Amino acid sequence: MKRIIALIMALVSLFCVTSVSAGAQGVEDGTVTVTVNETVFIFDADTTEEFRDKFIEDYFNSEDDGTTSYGLTCTLFGHKIETTSVTAVTHKVLSTSPRCRREIYDVDNCTRCDYTKSTLITSSYIVCCA
Ligand SMILES: [Zn+2]
Ligand SMILES: [Zn+2]
Repeated sequence: MKRIIALIMALVSLFCVTSVSAGAQGVEDGTVTVTVNETVFIFDADTTEEFRDKFIEDYFNSEDDGTTSYGLTCTLFGHKIETTSVTAVTHKVLSTSPRCRREIYDVDNCTRCDYTKSTLITSSYIVCCA
């Protein structure tokens, strides 16, 4: 009987450890970092992977093709906008210090369709790479 209780206790403690570590994952100081070539994108941890991919795609393809599709609900009631800020640091843009460029964007993102609109808030050069 004691062995069964010990086994249950072991299982319970194992479960507790597992659930605690699962809860800590993905929160990592509240940001998600994606690196593409010399550019490092810093997103809020609560953005979706889809949102991050789209932002990065738009960042490198800056011409507006105007093919934004509206969901039917958005056509009737307007977009359901959530705004998040994204930081993009591009390393070694210039040949002399400060060499790296930091841009901060406000991104309006519709939670119902794939509408997004990025607004550049600040762009500055920072002392970073030697
Ligand atoms: Zn929408
Ligand atoms: Zn740098």
